[in-house]
Amino acid sequence: MDIQVLVVDDSSTMRAIVSSVVSNCGYTPVPAASGEEAIGLFRQHRIDLVVMDVEMPGINGFETCRQLRKLSEDWFPVIYLSASSSDEDIIEGLDAGGDAYVAKPINDRVLKSILTAMGRIAIIQSKLDQANKRLERLATHDSLTQVLNRRGFDEILERCWRQSQREQTVFSIILADIDFFKKYNDHYGHGPGDECLHQVAQCLKSALLRPGDQIARYGGEEFVILLAQTDAAGAEEVAQRLQTALAKTAIPHDQSEVADHVTLSQGIADSQHRDGMLDILKAADDALYQTKRTGRNGYACARPAA
Ligand code: GH3
Ligand code: MG
Ligand code: MG
Ligand code: MG
Repeated sequence: MDIQVLVVDDSSTMRAIVSSVVSNCGYTPVPAASGEEAIGLFRQHRIDLVVMDVEMPGINGFETCRQLRKLSEDWFPVIYLSASSSDEDIIEGLDAGGDAYVAKPINDRVLKSILTAMGRIAIIQSKLDQANKRLERLATHDSLTQVLNRRGFDEILERCWRQSQREQTVFSIILADIDFFKKYNDHYGHGPGDECLHQVAQCLKSALLRPGDQIARYGGEEFVILLAQTDAAGAEEVAQRLQTALAKTAIPHDQSEVADHVTLSQGIADSQHRDGMLDILKAADDALYQTKRTGRNGYACARPAA
């Protein structure tokens, strides 16, 4: 892993010395001449570790550290370099969010050891972050179709519901179920059935245009689509678009009774006057059932709630 180290010091000589120790550790120095510049660079670059002078014109090292901590939720080591290293200085620096305190004039070998020790922790931290992100993705996404799973969907639905309550806005849900999918599996086999699910999910996903639109695999061969700030009329347009997109993809389905390709039945409900999330889902499910009863390969809207 390439470790990028922000080297902050108002003295160019010190920046050069510290940067060379950083390079000596096998890390990449990113020099900054002030706290302000350090904050600017931190916003633009991935920074894994910070070595920072305390006494600087403008904002000093302690204040810079406080501001850096506010900018990122991820932890990274901060090492101070300072000519004043009284107990009070050390306490103030560590309380401001620092992790180590090195007295100036610096001894290159001591600084190298401390950088290496902190670098070790930075590497462990970064591996943990990556593992957490992978786990988070596994927990919220469906491995077969690569879209959100039910759990991931429940989280965004809850957020969307709270936001719509707070801001008095409307959102919609579409439940979409593949038509005659049992026959598809029976005819083409389970492997091609899986592949079909993946293709359908990706096709629907790419037909969603707004960044806030979300699709999830709700179960078996059923998908759910959440459309933020969209009423039922808007959702009908999306349902039409999804139907057209899938028709264009034209996945052959010899056993379908309604088309020569894979189709969907969709049920739409918006959040207006609904009692809660389950209520919206139930309304969309009823509308989906209606589509199934009245010929499939289409969509129906739930009746508006009173
Ligand atoms: P309808 O038009 O009424 O929706 O009929 P259908 O056959 O699509 O519905 P039904 O509920 O009878 O069957 C759904 C089928 O979906 C049954 C099951 O084998 C298949 N299925 C569910 N999950 C998966 C999966 O992960 N992979 C594959 N290959 N098939 C799946
Ligand atoms: Mg200084
Ligand atoms: Mg089904
Ligand atoms: Mg089905």
